[in-house]
Amino acid sequence: MLRERTNIVCGSGAGGLTLALLLARSGRPVTLIESQPEIGGYLRRFYRNGIPFDTGYHFSGGFSPGGIMEQMMQVLGLSDAVSGTPIPNRIVLAESGKEILLPAECGHSGAAEICCSAFPDDAEKIREFFRIEQEIWDTTPMHDLHDLTPLTPDFSRYDLSTAEEICQSLGLSPAATACTGSFAMCHGTPLSEAPMSFHARVGYALHADLARPTDGGDAMIRAFKREAAKSGIDIRTGTELLKFSAPDADGACHKAHLSDGTILDAEQVFFTTHPFAIQNVLPDEARTPSHERRIRRLKESCSFFCTYFTADEAMPDGLVSYFSGNDIDHILTDGTRAHSTGILFNRERDRAGVLRHTVSAFRTMRFEGMPQPFSPDHRQRLTDEAYQSFKAQMIRETEAEIERVYPALKGKLHVQASGSPWTCLDYDPPTGSAYGARCICGQARICGQLPVTNFFAAGQSALVPGVMGTMLASFSVFRQVLGEDVYTGLLRRFL
Ligand SMILES: Cc1cc2nc3c(=O)[nH]c(=O)nc-3n(C[C@H](O)[C@H](O)[C@H](O)COP(=O)(O)OP(=O)(O)OC[C@H]3O[C@@H](n4cnc5c(N)ncnc54)[C@H](O)[C@@H]3O)c2cc1C
Repeated sequence: MLRERTNIVCGSGAGGLTLALLLARSGRPVTLIESQPEIGGYLRRFYRNGIPFDTGYHFSGGFSPGGIMEQMMQVLGLSDAVSGTPIPNRIVLAESGKEILLPAECGHSGAAEICCSAFPDDAEKIREFFRIEQEIWDTTPMHDLHDLTPLTPDFSRYDLSTAEEICQSLGLSPAATACTGSFAMCHGTPLSEAPMSFHARVGYALHADLARPTDGGDAMIRAFKREAAKSGIDIRTGTELLKFSAPDADGACHKAHLSDGTILDAEQVFFTTHPFAIQNVLPDEARTPSHERRIRRLKESCSFFCTYFTADEAMPDGLVSYFSGNDIDHILTDGTRAHSTGILFNRERDRAGVLRHTVSAFRTMRFEGMPQPFSPDHRQRLTDEAYQSFKAQMIRETEAEIERVYPALKGKLHVQASGSPWTCLDYDPPTGSAYGARCICGQARICGQLPVTNFFAAGQSALVPGVMGTMLASFSVFRQVLGEDVYTGLLRRFL
């Protein structure tokens, strides 16, 4: 049956929820389509023995007063429900035996000075690296929503150099490069490929105010549902976009066929899924050779093996960024020569109200381009001995690493759950990588207009990775499609 014309948002992670609310708050009808039974994507938490753990959203920058996360939440009407608590970051560089503790709320300049004192021979070079990070952040207009400078193609010279080229031109030592580049784990693109501008935006945000979202991504999902109910967003879960009608004379596709048999009459269609998932539903007429080539050139960002523990002993809350080697490219592309594990210590009440100490560890592992030895079928993997023994080995190694970082935890960790990139594939097809496609210097991103006139791409592959990045991509694409008047009107009303 044909219904009233609507704006379709495909995918309900942080990117999709943001776009759906922006459209609804500007008075547009919205249908949000999610293939999983629940909305939220990597914002979703899960419970083991009543204890909450996070799938993808563990920490973020931008939560300080007036910061970009706070601003975006305000425009979306979610700021009363979503907040973050500052946390420290302890960087452990095993190869050089160095440890750098960046206390909670040390700020970007504080972090710079601490790194300088850890590497006295590199101090001036590190100071310059941090200055560049700051310059890139400050000259990116969308990092402050009050700055209404129109979006133009960005010709920053830092778009044209990789992070590695900048580190080399500064003459940073390998250990200092690992230290300043440690947040590459939060975008998953090797330093030899990532544009400095992209790497610096993630680095600045996390150096400036690393914070743990209170109640994880659940807080945003709950607040979204409340606002969606008020503004009449039509949420369809367990449903996929199957195909579209052929383009009209104006190049637009208006009839969207869903897996539940519904046909929607679509005004605009916004994709916040992986570009490969978009490609699957593009009508044949839109699959131009040049677009196909663009898609084929994409490479995946890193993948993680995640292990979730409870601990008998309390450790200081916060992040430990462990690096077995200094070469970040090896860590992100090889996985056999070196790896990195992000270990998050947290205290949170379980469903019975008991305060629990939890440890979530996500270890980089190569996934893209590997022969895939395990079944993509979740049930088959449950009984696959080889898969179960691979998981057991990864868990043992992770546990040993945590005990190396905090010897007091020896024998006091209890595994509650674990997940591999194959698990991610179950919940976030089609690639299972942590941050979608890599951002590669000199390669155009899949963001904005698609080869059907009313189709647009946002999502985590678009601009900057992570939850903040995918939300910023939604703001940017909304602005591009709805125009300056609608965008500025919305900001004036809500910011
Ligand atoms: C282990 C791990 C740790 C991470 N840690 C952090 C962190 O600490 N901080 C941070 O900011 N980021 C982190 N990230 C990355 C972060 O989770 C993502 O960048 C972000 O959540 C992406 O949001 P999104 O909305 O773009 O995509 P997603 O959250 O992936 O949402 C996409 C949604 O689209 C749905 N979908 C896919 N295909 C279709 C289809 N054909 N039809 C309908 N629906 C579809 C999916 O089911 C999913 O719900 C981590 C990721 C991983 C895997």
